[in-house]
Parts: sequence; structure tokens; C-alpha cells
Amino acid sequence: MANVGSAQAAQLAAARGAAGIGLFRTELLFLGREGPPAEERQAEEYATACRTMAPHPVVVRTLDAGSDKALSYLPAEHEANPALGRRGIRLWLAHEGLHRPQIRALLRVAAEHPNLRVMLPMIGARDEVLAARRLFEREARRRRLRLPPLGMMVELPAVAVDLDAFSGVVDFVSLGTNDLTQYALGADRELDLGPGLSELNPGVLRLISGCVHSAARLGLDAGVCGEMAGTPEGAVFLAGIGATSLSMSANSLERVLRTLTRFGIERCREVSAAALAAPDAAAARRALRPRSSSGSAR
Ligand code: PEP
Ligand code: MG
Repeated sequence: MANVGSAQAAQLAAARGAAGIGLFRTELLFLGREGPPAEERQAEEYATACRTMAPHPVVVRTLDAGSDKALSYLPAEHEANPALGRRGIRLWLAHEGLHRPQIRALLRVAAEHPNLRVMLPMIGARDEVLAARRLFEREARRRRLRLPPLGMMVELPAVAVDLDAFSGVVDFVSLGTNDLTQYALGADRELDLGPGLSELNPGVLRLISGCVHSAARLGLDAGVCGEMAGTPEGAVFLAGIGATSLSMSANSLERVLRTLTRFGIERCREVSAAALAAPDAAAARRALRPRSSSGSAR
């Protein structure tokens, strides 16, 4: 599956063979404007993506603004650490002008497109999911519309290790390994601080694997939509530990598919077990690296 930021990008991803959208980032629609986009404008965008990908799923993420994606039309609040501040679900829940039109647009589109799924970003607490779910339910009741599957991103370590707390309140999860790695290691995702502070860090690999296993035990689909899914080593590891889907930039689809086909699921399982036992990121990478004479899958 592909990660996209617009319906047009979904069309390009479909042309490159994507079987669904695992992450539709809606930020692009909200940035660089005077105010939030109207319900109608949003509905058009989501519906086009759903039509393009049908019958494959389209996972639309509710607005994940704040931090480095500041909205000029919200009251400016100084935060010493924006990456740890009012962002993602926190910001969205706090502003009716942000969540109302988006919820309405999503419910409208879900009524006509059964492949639409909704996903909440930066969830840190069960209460946040319940608050969002209540908003969706209230609006759905008012308009006599059905609720689409509602999932959440796992981007915060406390959630990754305690998925049980979310059992019964989410329909699926997707691991955002970009933020999950950043918050697990206290290492800014925009900086290259070396392989030891990447998603191949043994602690991060165990965090991810533990979360995917918890999801399986709870009967929840656990996809991955962080950049890790779009690298050959990352994809091999994630397939091996049982991730139920991988979503990546459309540019990575072909290379990742080629690598996974070459490995096969049994070998993915073997090498992901070896990576989990590795003492450091370099050894984990060696365990996962596609071994060909030319190393051409890289
Ligand atoms: C992530 O954090 O891994 C993710 C997919 O979300 P974003 O990159 O949009 O923060
Ligand atoms: Mg994220």
C-alpha cells in the first residue's frame, strides 16, 4: 500500500501498482490556507481517493498538525518543545473548526465508499480515542450514517507496550515508526544521528515486534506506515514479525515488493528473529540485508 497526501497522489500510486492507501496524510489540505478546508472540499478529495483504490482500503488519517506543521490560522501559542506539545489528536480534539468538517466529510464519504477507514494520529491515551469516537458517533447518529472502521496510529512508546488498553475501542492499528523511533530514542527524526539511533536499534525493534504481537493476540490488524516499511531491511523485518500490511511512498513499492518476493515469508521470519537477537543496529542490518551478489535491492 502507499502513503499519499492527496487524491492526485493516490491516482499516481494506483498507476504504480499500490493495492490501497495505508496512510492518507490530510495535512496538505489544511496547510497554506486562511482557514480549514470546507467539508465539501475534503469530501471530494477523500471520495476520489476511495474511488481510485476501490476495492482496496483507503486509510484517511485525521489532521496531524502542530509541531513542525503549524497552522497559521490557529491562535499562536508558544511551546518550548512543539514536538511534545499540542499536536496531532490533541490539537484536533481541541478545535471544533478542525474536527467538525473533517468528521462530516469522512462520514459522508464512508456512506458511499465501504473501503474508507479512519485513523487517529499521535494517540497517547485511551481517553483520546474515546473522545474522538464519541464525536464520530454523535455526528453519525445525527445524520443516520454508519461509522467506518476507526483505528489509531501507534507512534508513542507507552501505547506500543500497552495495546491491551485500547482493546475494544479501536478497529485496527498502524505503527508510525518515524515518530515511534523518535520518541523511543529521544532522537529527532529529521536528524541523522547514526544507525544506533534509528529504527534498527535493538530496543526499537523489540518495541515494534512486541506491539505487532500484542495486536495479533487482540485480533487487531497491525499495519506499518512509517518510512521503515519502504526500506528493504525494514520491510523484511516487518513482514517477518507478522505486520499485516506495509504502506510506503509509491517510489518504494517496486523495490520492496521485489525484495519480499525474493525472500519469501519463511526467510523473513528467520532473519527477523536474528535481527531481534542482534546486539546492535549494525548487526540487525546485516541480518536483514538482502544477500545477492550485487546487493542490488538496496
Ligand atoms: C510516522 O510517524 O511514522 C508516520 C507515518 O506519520 P508522519 O510521518 O506523518 O508523522
Ligand atoms: Mg507521525
